Amino acid sequence: MRPVILDGHNDLALRVFLEHETVHIDLRRARELAFDGGFFALSAIGPPPDRPTAVPYALPLDDPIPFEQAVADVEGQLAALEGLDVSIALRVEDIRPGRVNAIVHFEGAEAIAPDLSNLEDWFERGLRSLGIVWSRPNAFGEGVPFRFPSSPDTGSGLTGQGRDLVRACNDLGVMIDVAHLNEAGFWDVAALTQVPIVATHSNAHAICPTTRNLTDRQLDAIGASGGVVGINFAAMFLREDGLSGTDVPLETIVRHIDYVASRIGVEHVAFGSDFEGCEVPDELGGAAGLPLLVEALRAAGHDDESLALITHRNWLRVLGSTWLSSTR
Ligand code: ZN
Repeated sequence: MRPVILDGHNDLALRVFLEHETVHIDLRRARELAFDGGFFALSAIGPPPDRPTAVPYALPLDDPIPFEQAVADVEGQLAALEGLDVSIALRVEDIRPGRVNAIVHFEGAEAIAPDLSNLEDWFERGLRSLGIVWSRPNAFGEGVPFRFPSSPDTGSGLTGQGRDLVRACNDLGVMIDVAHLNEAGFWDVAALTQVPIVATHSNAHAICPTTRNLTDRQLDAIGASGGVVGINFAAMFLREDGLSGTDVPLETIVRHIDYVASRIGVEHVAFGSDFEGCEVPDELGGAAGLPLLVEALRAAGHDDESLALITHRNWLRVLGSTWLSSTR
């Protein structure tokens, strides 16, 4: 049977906007590959981050992006996304198998005014998921710098505006994403939010101790909230040694999925590929390798029920409890 695959994170819109060649997602083949879409990130654009070539590494935190520039970047990427052969999902009922469903996600809230005066406008234009920060500081909080090995406890938590943003997103029914957020910010979100905690593209820190991955305590909090962790396919966040070489077996992705599933339950783990924004294992290659990953999970003991949860039902459940929690 054809699997249904919803994914927690891709940067296709950014790549198309920048007129860079796509490397992981070929929308013309999506149907045949069972890639049914998921979260499509729109980002404020800074200089490309350095890629570490040795461990340990400790890259500096990226510089802030001005609001006006961020609005222009995100508007350009939204137009690029709307020009693709995708269906933008505004309600859970809009998400249907057999087509590429696109959930509009901001990776960093730089395009949202610090007084939140344009948040509802973005909601009207399709915003349904928000990472408060990328790996840089902004008006709302501070992301993690890229470091290995390191705890994600790298700086201060949400600002007052960041706390207001979490409350406003809860009220509007916009999902909050804690990927890229530092640990203090994570606990601020956990204390404030009224809905399940979600990390769209992060892995197990116990296996790969980078700042970008989640500690056992963080995983436990996500599980207790009914949330989901989308497992990131970036080699550098999968590998135990923290290096970025892509000679990584598919089993390493399975290992992160199984670690999260055994610690907090298979209802709390999903895919968060980071396609078009990272270097993935050679064996996966891109969306074309998703059926192979599903088979690797099956070989590791996941039955149809477990595979359905990991590939799409967990995402649909958290969206259902987040989007429908809207008071509007
Ligand atoms: Zn990211």
